[in-house]
Amino acid sequence: MRSTPSATPLHEDQPSSRHASERGAFRLVLRALVASAALSLLTFTGTAGTSFAQSLRGSSRAVHKPFHYATIHDLPFSRTSRDVKRRLHEGYLVKLGASPDYVTHDVSFPYVTRTTLTFVRRLAAQYHRGCGEKLVITSAVRPESMQPANSSEYSVHPAGIAVDFRKPRNSKCLRWLRRNLLIIEKRGDIEATEEHHPAHFHVVVIPESYKEYLASR
Ligand SMILES: [Zn+2]
Repeated sequence: MRSTPSATPLHEDQPSSRHASERGAFRLVLRALVASAALSLLTFTGTAGTSFAQSLRGSSRAVHKPFHYATIHDLPFSRTSRDVKRRLHEGYLVKLGASPDYVTHDVSFPYVTRTTLTFVRRLAAQYHRGCGEKLVITSAVRPESMQPANSSEYSVHPAGIAVDFRKPRNSKCLRWLRRNLLIIEKRGDIEATEEHHPAHFHVVVIPESYKEYLASR
């Protein structure tokens, strides 16, 4: 039994042979370890209040930190599409819905947590003003049973706190998005990774940090 993730996928969407049900089992083990203090919180306090990462390049830390965060804070991971519907009904997840500033493209489950929705709305409005295009969202919550084959076992898409943005073809928009995601990441509110296969930006909103930022404004 592993006490901490030892595999180090460089990107959130790296191939994984672990079955969805095993992911759930692993999280249960991790939760138990956390509850018994077998997993040191020092791992997290070392970055408390600061950024999880310093660039948009993928790293094992960029993948594991959000997963650890979600596990420590006991965020509900949706295992099936039924779980997603239930959490939508309960209000934990909300619809991305229509917006003058973003569109969804081929998103099977266009739902995220409220905090992530706030982040998406604000970023998309700024992006639209900044470069003249709408932000394109290509993924939101994904049940564990329906994660793509190349998904990481540590993905937090099932928890509804992650979204994927299509990589802009327009160079001005691409520069805008890279620059601003990095600024927000350095503030500690998101964990963002530029993925290449397929080309997109994977962004995890860190709920506590982002809520603190909003409250301070
Ligand atoms: Zn993603």
